[in-house]
Amino acid sequence: MKTSTRVLMGPGPSDVHPRVLRAMATPLVGHLDPEFLEVMDDIKTMTQETLQTKNPLTFVVSAPGSAGMETCLVNLLEPGDEAVICIHGVFGNRMADIAERCGAKAIKVEADWGSPIEIEDVKIALENCNPKLLAIVHAETSTGVLQPLEEISRLTKAAGALFVVDAVTSYCGTELKVDEWGIDALYSGSQKCLSAPPGLSPVTFSQAAIDALDNRKTKVQSWFLDLSLVKNYWAGAKRAYHHTAPISSMYAMREALRIVLEEGLENRFARHRKNHELLRDGLESMGFKFLVEEQYRLPMLNAVRIPEGIDDLTVRKRLLEEYNIEIGGGLGPFAGKIWRIGLMGESSDANHVNMLLAALKNIIL
Ligand SMILES: *Cc1c(COP(=O)(O)O)cnc(C)c1O
Repeated sequence: MKTSTRVLMGPGPSDVHPRVLRAMATPLVGHLDPEFLEVMDDIKTMTQETLQTKNPLTFVVSAPGSAGMETCLVNLLEPGDEAVICIHGVFGNRMADIAERCGAKAIKVEADWGSPIEIEDVKIALENCNPKLLAIVHAETSTGVLQPLEEISRLTKAAGALFVVDAVTSYCGTELKVDEWGIDALYSGSQKCLSAPPGLSPVTFSQAAIDALDNRKTKVQSWFLDLSLVKNYWAGAKRAYHHTAPISSMYAMREALRIVLEEGLENRFARHRKNHELLRDGLESMGFKFLVEEQYRLPMLNAVRIPEGIDDLTVRKRLLEEYNIEIGGGLGPFAGKIWRIGLMGESSDANHVNMLLAALKNIIL
């Protein structure tokens, strides 16, 4: 079987550092072995540090980002609750779907794909319902939009609702301050700017979120994701069996978090910005146009329009087969119309950018 060494410049997974791959080859110990408890404690502490939060209920769900999304929503929503869900791409739609499956009423605030959610629309929605929570995507990977959060957080709090954030793509790639921004529940993913293998979802919950959980009238409908059960698995020395943790993935996660902290969050964010600018200048000099207005662009996910006369699939196939480079295509209304070029974590690298620009020039010009 052939397994090529690809350069991962799509919407995730991103390239993984050799130190992280080596960590995955560490011999297994039992998941309740005292040495593994240390691994879990390290992960918890470093997740708090990278999320800039002191929330004691911060841990990693043993499943990908979508399970983190589901963890936040199934624990906080009960049948009959109202939830304001902001939708400006694929992942907002997924949140609305999950909220409705919880039996909640989803009050949708929508923006055109490629634009951020408008503050005014959020205000109107919050005033016209009795919201348990408001959920929003910080970095919409389907469109390349960075959503400003602070004002929406203030409005949500003023309405007495919990502020829930999808930080799957923004985490470890751009500024994200859980405590300072008043975020009550947040989920992310391991395979984007953290550059660990896919399959884990860091999550964090504020005291207000825990209070909402403690005041539920009904059982959480998911056994696996029920926080009141799983939280004991992450409760330090009192740890009790809940499920068998994906031990090798946890070794990888710990190493990836160490690499982030060695680099430093600010340096890491600056690197993501710098490589985004390098790519932007190169693509614009070739005549490409970005989908998103400059001030709302994500540094780690560059959405550009495919120029007239260029076939999406042909170019992406040649990039993969001839250059071993993966980039992402458009989703939904943007299928065949945009490319999504990821510069996430280890993939945010000047050599990667130069290689992609040269390959695109060879194919297109
Ligand atoms: C990738 C992504 C998800 C889903 O994560 P999976 O690990 O694929 O389940 C959710 N939200 C956003 C914004 C994403 O980019």
